[in-house]
This record gives sequence, C-alpha cells and structure tokens, in this order.
Amino acid sequence: MMMLTKKMIEIRGLLQTVGQSESLTLPSIVVIGSQSSGKSSVLEAIVGHEFLPKGHNMVTRRPIELTLVHTPDASAEYGEFPALGLSKVTDFGQIQKTLTDLNLAVPVQDCVSDDPIQLRIHSPNVPDLSLIDLPGYIQVVGRDQPPELKEKIAQLCEKYIKPPNVILAISAADVDLANSTALRASRKVDPRGERTIGVITKMDLVDAERGASLLGDKKYALRLGYVGVVCRVPPNASGSKLFSRGNGNITNAIAKNENAYFGSHPEFSSDSQLAVGTPNLKKKLMYVLEQTMAASLKTTSEAIQRELAEATYEYKVQYNERPLSAESYLAESLDGFKHSFRGFTDTFGRPQVRELLKHELDQQVLNLLAQRYWNRPFEDLSPPLPETDPLSSLARADPEGEHEIWQIKLDSSSAALTKLGVGRLATSVVANAIQAHIDRLVANSRFAAHPFARQAITEASTSILKDLSYDIADELEICIKPYKYRIELEDSEWARGRENVTAVLKEELQVCEAAAKRLEDQAGGRKKVRDVMAFIDRVRNGQVVLEGDGIGGAGGFSAPLLAKGREAVFLRDRTDVLKMRLLAVKSKQCANKKNKYHCPEVFLDAVADKLTTTADLFLDAELLSKFYYNFPRELDARLGRGLSQSEIDRFAREDPKIRRHLDVVRRKDLLETVLKEMESLRQLEAREKRSIRRE
Ligand code: GDP
Repeated sequence: MMMLTKKMIEIRGLLQTVGQSESLTLPSIVVIGSQSSGKSSVLEAIVGHEFLPKGHNMVTRRPIELTLVHTPDASAEYGEFPALGLSKVTDFGQIQKTLTDLNLAVPVQDCVSDDPIQLRIHSPNVPDLSLIDLPGYIQVVGRDQPPELKEKIAQLCEKYIKPPNVILAISAADVDLANSTALRASRKVDPRGERTIGVITKMDLVDAERGASLLGDKKYALRLGYVGVVCRVPPNASGSKLFSRGNGNITNAIAKNENAYFGSHPEFSSDSQLAVGTPNLKKKLMYVLEQTMAASLKTTSEAIQRELAEATYEYKVQYNERPLSAESYLAESLDGFKHSFRGFTDTFGRPQVRELLKHELDQQVLNLLAQRYWNRPFEDLSPPLPETDPLSSLARADPEGEHEIWQIKLDSSSAALTKLGVGRLATSVVANAIQAHIDRLVANSRFAAHPFARQAITEASTSILKDLSYDIADELEICIKPYKYRIELEDSEWARGRENVTAVLKEELQVCEAAAKRLEDQAGGRKKVRDVMAFIDRVRNGQVVLEGDGIGGAGGFSAPLLAKGREAVFLRDRTDVLKMRLLAVKSKQCANKKNKYHCPEVFLDAVADKLTTTADLFLDAELLSKFYYNFPRELDARLGRGLSQSEIDRFAREDPKIRRHLDVVRRKDLLETVLKEMESLRQLEAREKRSIRRE
C-alpha cells in the first residue's frame, strides 16, 4: 500500500505544475489550530526536525505545502524548495531561516498570502505524506498587527479545509475542547466529523484521567478519532543543544518522552483502545491520506479528462495540431536564419566589396583633390602659384622648375592616398557593411522578437569580424606597400581612370548643385541668396570693409543669412571648379597619361583603382570567405548546442505567441502523462484490493 500513496503524492505534484484549476488536485491533509496549540510541535515531531519559524510575533503568513518523501536508503535527510530552485538543503536551521524569510516577505498590510510555499522533505524517518500547514488562528490581535489579521487567517483556513482535504485539527489538552478554534472551524465544513482527525497536544499538562476522557470525547465525536500526543522536546533530552538549532533528529527523543509518559499511566494502556503517541498519529495519517486519495482518484481522473479534452481542442483549433517544443522552435529559427544568411553570402561577394571600396576611395580622392588643388581661387589651379604657397616662390625663382612643382604636388597627393591606411580603412568598411547586413537579416528573422538571441547573434558576428579584422588590416597594408613607392599605369588603366573620374566629378557636381538649391530654399529665395553672395564677394575683393567679424550681422544681412551666404559662395566656387575640371578631364590633353600633372583627377583615380583591386581580392579571400565559414559555426555554438535547457525555454517563451502555443502543448502532454499514471494507479489499487480480499 505504501507505493500507492507515494505515487499519488507524485501525481499530486505533477498536477500542481499543470495549473491552478481547483478540481485538478488530489487531497492533502490540512493542519489547523490556534496559536500555541502546539501545531508546529506536532509537525516537527512528524518530520523529526525543528524547521518551522518560531519566536514572538512570528505569525505564519503563507501556507506551507509540505511533501514528505520516505527515502528508505538515503542516509542524509534534506529539504527542497522546488519553486526557489533550492535543492538538498541538509541544514534544517537553514530551512527554518528560508521559511522565516519567505514569511517576512509578505507585506504586513496584506496580512496573509494564499500562495503556498512548497517544501519537500526527504528522509528515511518520514512517511510519504502530503500536509499543508496553515497560519495558526489567533484570538487577540497584537498591538502591532493589522486588525483584520484574525479574519484573514480564518478566511485562508476556510479555503483550504474544503473537501476532499482531510482536516488535522490541533487542540491543546489544557484548553476546553468546546473552546477549540480548530474543532469549531472543522465542524462548520465537516459537520458529521467524517474527514477530521483530532489531535490533542500537551497531554502531559492535564491529569491522565482528564486526558483519557478528551480522547474518548463523545460530544465532538470524530469518525477518524482523536490522537493524544506529547510533542514537546524535553529540554535535556540528549544533553545537547543541537535541537534548538534544529539540526538533530528529535524523533527518538519525542518517542522516548511519550513512551515514558503514556507508559506510566494505565489510562492509556493498550486495553484502553485510545490512540496516543506520535508514531500512532503518523500511522493514522498515512492510512487516512491513502484512503482519501484513493477515493478521489476517480473524480480527479474525470476532471483531468475534461481538462485534457479542452487542451486537445485548443491545440487542434488554434494550432492545427502543430507539435512544438522550445528545442524545435529554436532549431527551426536557427535554420531559417542560417538559410537567409546563405542567401546573403550569394549576393555579397567580390564585386560588391569592390563597389564599396571604390566608392570609399572615390571620396578620399575627392577630399585630396579639394585639399591640394581645388580649395583656392581657381586661377591658382594653373601656375604661377600664389605667394603664400612655399612652392610658388620656388616657381617664381625658377620658371623652368614649374613642371617640377606640379610633379611634386602630384607625387605627394598620390603618396597621401597610398599612405592613408588603406588596410584598416578597407577592412573596416567591409566589416561594417557585413555587420549592417547581419543586423538587417536579424531584424527580418524570427529572432527579431527575441532580445536574447539578437544579442547572441550580434556578439557572434562582431567577435568574428573583430578577430579577423585585426590581422587582415595589417596584411592588406603589406599587400599595397609597393604602391607607396612607385606607380606604373597602363594606357588602359589611364583610360579607365579618366572615364570613372568623369562620372565621379559629374556626381559631385550634381551634389553641389542640389545643395545650392536647398540652401536657396532654406534662406528664403534665390534673390536673397544672390544679394548676400554679392555682398560677401565685395568683402572678399576688398570693396567693402567688414566691421568686426560679422557675427552680429553686416551689410544689412543677419548673421544666419551671412552664414548661408558664405556656404552658397563656397558651393558656387566648388561648382565652378568642378565644371572647369570636368572640361579639363574631357579635353584631349587628359587623354594621354603623359600629361598626368595636368590631370591629377585621372591619375589619382587610377591609383585608387589599383588599391581597390588589391584590396577587394584580398578581402574577398580573407575576410568574406573566413567569415562565411565561421559565422554559422559560431551561431551553432552560441544558440545551438551551447544553450542549457532553461536558456532554450527562456528563449522560446520570449515570444508571446510561441509561449501560448508551448503552454498548450505542455499542458496537454502533462495531462496525458498524469492520466496515464492515474490509470496505472487505479489498476494497482484494484489489484491490491483483490489480493486483500483473497487473504
Ligand atoms: P503553535 O503556535 O501552535 O505552533 O505552538 P508551538 O508548537 O509553538 O507550541 C507552543 C508552546 O507549547 C511551546 O512553548 C511548546 O514548547 C509548547 N508545547 C508544545 N507541545 C507541547 C506538549 O506536548 N507538552 C508541553 N508541555 N508543552 C508543549
């Protein structure tokens, strides 16, 4: 029969994980009693350890669902708080402390909470039992306690003592049974005394005759009877103070004490038929719980079947019977993502890298041209050079050296381009582009709704790109090193450069013109801008003297308008330069690479092209192919095998839709499991009944 209770308690635990439904539970023994009736002492005597919160003012504020698990072979005794993830707590003082903390966590104004604390105790000294310890009834509310405390405790108890639970009503022998709050409460819900066990504590405090009469009470007759106990641990039971810290086993000490007491009074002899002592109480509890559980197996099974039918229906209608687990969801999502990543790798190769790099270097070339050639009044673009330029005095002194100056100018511009740090620049441009693509892939994937996975993927790509970039940048720099010293151009390269730079200059021209147009719109019309530009030109030509720095406005123009005017002048000059240079590049002179000093645009473009060709080849081989190989593997490591079950669950449940789907599947599976267990239990029970009948 032992097996049966154990199994039923297991099923009870399973049912608790299914959900809150009240019909979905097997009965338990509910322990009630007024404060100081000795309720804690009885529970501790059953468990064999002091583990319940004690002390003045320590009102239990939450029910404790106490599951006792008989473990014949285990040498150690320990407790578990499954909801807290605390397992194998062997120190009962620690259990006591945890319970105290959980109690204190209930806000004072709430008085009590009906959210039970789950505690399992494994021990070879406990029977298989499921008990619920409720806050003790209080008679008088303390000064520092909320006035409604008394009522709230009574309500909480009322909720738990409903059928089919068994009520363990604790009353102290030294209080008149008519005054026992526990018996009065039980009588209300169990008027015929069919599911109440009476426990009379502190039997040692009344004389034996009176004690015996309490146990045989007829006025409050209970079908399951009364048991008398003496649960106080005698102070010097073992001469050890261990007990007070809750760590020694008190079973023997209590048994010894009870034997001594009940043995010395003939009123409690076995002839008396009175039930006394904790061991007898334990036996009775086991028997009654088993009977009660067995009796409700049928109704609980039916309730489970109903719930299962509901869950199955929902599964069918809402989810089309699509099976789902957190693992399968993760695996599917990961596959989907990897698939889209493969799609990306097909579209992002050497040509795309080349385009990116060329565009970047085009910008660098434009900057260089502006700095070194264009950002001057444009007559400077042809010799003689202005006074301020150190080269110009050279030119003055030696008109023959004119050619040399333009040679130096071009060589230094070309060196500025090759020594720009192309290795690092090109690598980071491509790495950033890859990262941006990955971010986009994530945003368009299922992972978009999963912050945890998003982070894992971003970390995977950034870490690989970072690791690769470091060496690649240096190696690429070495590859382009020869160009830092010497640049030889083929005719075809020159021609390509001329063609490309023409397009670049045209585009730049369009950008300038568009910017000028925008400026006119912002400043309030073409005329206004023209006027302020004319003023600025006059200042520049020395025709007008600007007083101060023009910050507060000048010439009748406000400061912001002047700033816009300056910008417009700059854009006009830049547009003029660009038009002029476009003409030059298109001219016959620039068709021949011999005239490169007159055509720096073409030359620098051709150099940028050479750099690009080296870089795209290298980056395609080193950065792209290595990233394409490593990234899916890194994803597997971070989101596949690398995750624990709880991480996988957490991941899947981040998406509310998936969470609901998973819940239905889980509920259905759990209910099916429980139902199967119940069926086998009922068969077991039937077999046992048959064999008992045969005996
Ligand atoms: P609770 O408030 O109902 O949980 O009561 P406790 O178990 O804390 O007991 C209240 C007081 O009664 C404590 O001081 C116990 O030591 C004492 N007590 C409990 N059981 C017995 C008993 O069987 N005999 C005697 N003499 N005292 C007891």
